[in-house]
Amino acid sequence: MRYDYLIVGAGLFGATFARKAADAGKKCLVIDKRDHIAGNIYTKEEHGIHVHKYGAHIFHTSDKKVWDYVNTFAEFNNFVNSPVARYGDELYNLPFNMNTFSKMWGISTPAEAKKIIDEQKKDGYRENPANLEEQAISLVGKDIYEKLIKGYTRKQWGRECTELPAFIIKRLPVRFTFDNNYFNDRYQGIPIGGYTAMVEKMLDGITVKLGISYRDHLEVNAASAEPDTYDRVIYTGPVDEYFGHKLGYLEYRSLRFEEEYMPDCDNFQGNAAVNYTSADVPYTRIIEHKHFEFGKGDGTVITREYPSEWKPGDEPYYPVNNDRNTELYGKYKELADAEENVIFGGRLGVYKYYDMDKVIASALELAEKELG
Ligand code: FAD
Ligand code: UDP
Repeated sequence: MRYDYLIVGAGLFGATFARKAADAGKKCLVIDKRDHIAGNIYTKEEHGIHVHKYGAHIFHTSDKKVWDYVNTFAEFNNFVNSPVARYGDELYNLPFNMNTFSKMWGISTPAEAKKIIDEQKKDGYRENPANLEEQAISLVGKDIYEKLIKGYTRKQWGRECTELPAFIIKRLPVRFTFDNNYFNDRYQGIPIGGYTAMVEKMLDGITVKLGISYRDHLEVNAASAEPDTYDRVIYTGPVDEYFGHKLGYLEYRSLRFEEEYMPDCDNFQGNAAVNYTSADVPYTRIIEHKHFEFGKGDGTVITREYPSEWKPGDEPYYPVNNDRNTELYGKYKELADAEENVIFGGRLGVYKYYDMDKVIASALELAEKELG
């Protein structure tokens, strides 16, 4: 069989590109080493609940083109992410807003909140914060930093806030209004029926082979009597793995998900996500999946999320953007750019923390370049 494209990875990047290519009349084969499609946005129905098997995924974007595109494959509900932070027995709204400030300090106006933050950031304040600690204190003051940021961030990244770049915390909105929406984006929601159904629709009519890695696939194909041929490869696995780690290993943060089904509990925590921000609780958050779809299902399913240091063989989740890895990725990128008829894409292929909308946007951009 002759294919125009071999697409390695049935995640969001691979599925978006495959759909575009198939619609342009190209013949595609999609493979994935996992035994399911959808990559990290995979959801599985358990007890009438769509469980996010690789962590909570909330779709949010300000890109109308991307929003219109995903809506051709799924209808989205009106879920708005409003996590709660738990420090000991104290509960606070996120992102940092007037509800958080009022609970923390017993105040009621933006002016009072700003006055306290200004007071708390005086010591050590710098125009250009050099690290996450300085950035956090200058945004929300010392109390919130100590209770809601310091322990959580240390667990999440396995490093002190003073050793982490400032930009990580700048992702979070800080608002002087009573608005608990975690994102500033124009569009937000969860696909009704789960992400897997959405990706299934994207891959409709396209040949997909699961449970086989790129290397094994090449070997099996080469040994067959009539090997398949591919004009081009779209590769969404880890770029360093593609090159046999010959320049060294890129580093990632990994996660362990501990799932629990509670048949007799209807509502465990009253919210989809509760962040455990103190250092002495080993997990960073508990997700209660039924709340992504407003409480449907029998009993409830929760997942505790434990961050861990990545080692070869673990699932890579978050790229670690420090100087060493940025430089090493630059070298792999040179190799990748020189690789004939192979295009690297997606979160692992370009070693970048991409939200879903950015992954789709980059796959659509590639499709435009490739397919005209
Ligand atoms: P992936 O989904 O990782 O797909 C790559 C696929 O390639 C995988 O299925 C893998 O098995 C396969 N593969 C890899 N190597 C090989 C190989 N050698 N051979 C064969 N197959 C291979 N984004 C949001 O917008 N909102 C959120 O709320 C959000 N929450 C997140 C929470 C967590 C815990 C994490 C880790 C990420 C989150 N993201 C979120 C980001 C989101 O998961 C990604 O943007 C998206 O899944 C990336 O799609 P992808 O196709 O690039 O990669
Ligand atoms: N963060 C925190 N406390 C929280 C939530 C987030 O300190 O309760 C910090 C943490 O450093 C995290 C960063 O803010 O890495 C960005 O948060 P986000 O929710 O974007 O994290 P991600 O989506 O990467 O898990």
